[in-house]
Amino acid sequence: MFRLTALLDFSDVGTLLARGKVQTLFRNPDLMKTNRKNAGYEGEHMDSELHELFLDELADMYQGEHQLTKALPKLAKAAESDELKRAFQSHLEETENHISRLEQVFASLNEKPKSKKCRGMQGIIEESEEMMKEQKDSTALDATLISSAQKAEHYEIASYGTLAAWAEQMGHEDALRLLKETLSEEKASDEKLSELALYRANLKAEQTL
Ligand code: FE
Repeated sequence: MFRLTALLDFSDVGTLLARGKVQTLFRNPDLMKTNRKNAGYEGEHMDSELHELFLDELADMYQGEHQLTKALPKLAKAAESDELKRAFQSHLEETENHISRLEQVFASLNEKPKSKKCRGMQGIIEESEEMMKEQKDSTALDATLISSAQKAEHYEIASYGTLAAWAEQMGHEDALRLLKETLSEEKASDEKLSELALYRANLKAEQTL
C-alpha cells in the first residue's frame, strides 16, 4: 500500500477506488510502468520492506511446495479413480518443477533459497489427512481428496498471485515471469480437479448411498 500511496496521493486513490479503477491500474502493466517512472521508481528495487516481505513469502512457499511433494503421493495412493491418481501424480511432477522455479526466482534476486515453515499449507495437509481417515471406506473418498487438493491449490494461487503482484511492483521481471508460469499451472491444475469432481467424484459420492 505504501508504494501505491507513493505513486498516487490519497485523494487520487479514493477517486480511483470510487470509480473502480484501481484494479484496472494493477492489471495494466504499461500504466504501472509509467506511474513508477513518473514517481522515480524505475528499474528493479531490492532495498525496501516490500522486498523483505517478498523474500519472506518466497521462503514460505518454498517450504509449502516441499510439504506438498510429501502429501501428493499419499493422495495419489488413496485415490480410487485412476484418472484422479494420474492427476495427483502429474501435479507432483509440476510441484517439483515449482520448487526449482522458486530456486530460479531466488537466484534472479542474488539470494540463496530460504525456507520458512508454511503453517497455512501445514494446516491444509493436516486437515486433509484427518478427512482421508474419516472417509476411508466411503464412496465420497475421491470427492474428499479433491476438496483437500483444491484447498491447497487455492492457497497457492493466492500466494503466487500476491508474489507476482509484488514482483511486478518492484520491477523484478525475471521473478515475475517465473511466478506467472507457476501461477498458470496452479490454476490449470485447479480446473482439472474441478472437472474430475463435477464429472466423476461428486456423482459417484451422490449416487451410491
Ligand atoms: Fe505448486
